[in-house]
Amino acid sequence: MRVDLFSLFPDVFRPYLEISILKRAIQNGLLEVHTHNIRAYATDRHHTTDDTPYGGGGGMIMKPEPVFAAVEDVLGSPPNCPVIMLCPQGELFTQKIARELATYPHLALLCGRYESFDERIRSQLATRVLSIGDYVLTGGELPALVVLDAIARLQPGVLGDNEATSDDSFSEAGLLEYPQYTKPVEFRGWRVPDVLLNGNLGEQLKWKHEQSLLRTLRWRPDLLAKYPLSEDDLRVIEDFINLELSQDVEGEPD
Ligand code: SAM
Repeated sequence: MRVDLFSLFPDVFRPYLEISILKRAIQNGLLEVHTHNIRAYATDRHHTTDDTPYGGGGGMIMKPEPVFAAVEDVLGSPPNCPVIMLCPQGELFTQKIARELATYPHLALLCGRYESFDERIRSQLATRVLSIGDYVLTGGELPALVVLDAIARLQPGVLGDNEATSDDSFSEAGLLEYPQYTKPVEFRGWRVPDVLLNGNLGEQLKWKHEQSLLRTLRWRPDLLAKYPLSEDDLRVIEDFINLELSQDVEGEPD
């Protein structure tokens, strides 16, 4: 997969691309990342990339000319791949969108700075607008890395066999992942649950599923509402709720 990143600060991407899984994906030819400096496409003497907003208001606006010039120089006109603008006003980026984007052979990510993009960049150049969450950052570089990282690890061959994504939280399974433990068996008196040590794969799978259910119930009940609960699942949840209620009652002051 090829990803083109357009930014006023393209140097910030390098360190992240030079470590761990993304580094290995690039070395193995599974991921190709090209970074482009939008400022290099500003044609005036001062390489201006922003200007004041029409109609007043605070902050500076990213000018359309250098952004269009950068994207069209690299991707042609019209661009030969989806152009995704990072913007807090966009569609909320989710694992489902990551799975969808991971199927494209080529994507471009457009990072903003300052107060906003000129609206014509959104309406005439971007094919999709994504937000990584309901908060405002100073620039689109971190959001672009978030999107890139999430889709890169879904590329076939990028994760090793031991790093499967099928049980991941937000995977198609639809639940949060179960709790995980590693050695030592006992740390400061806290033991790994016996079921994970008994070698019974069937029991372990059942435990993991139940833990996923209960964790999702506790932390992300909104996800559970969309999950097709089996009768066994409902029983597990009912038992858990009854246990919690009985503990609440026991703990109440007389
Ligand atoms: N004034 C804009 C607004 O209220 O919608 C926010 C602009 S923000 C300070 C500058 C740039 O950071 C944006 O153009 C975008 O590229 C990026 N950015 C900030 N927060 C983001 C988020 N939650 N998701 C995606 N991109 C974001």
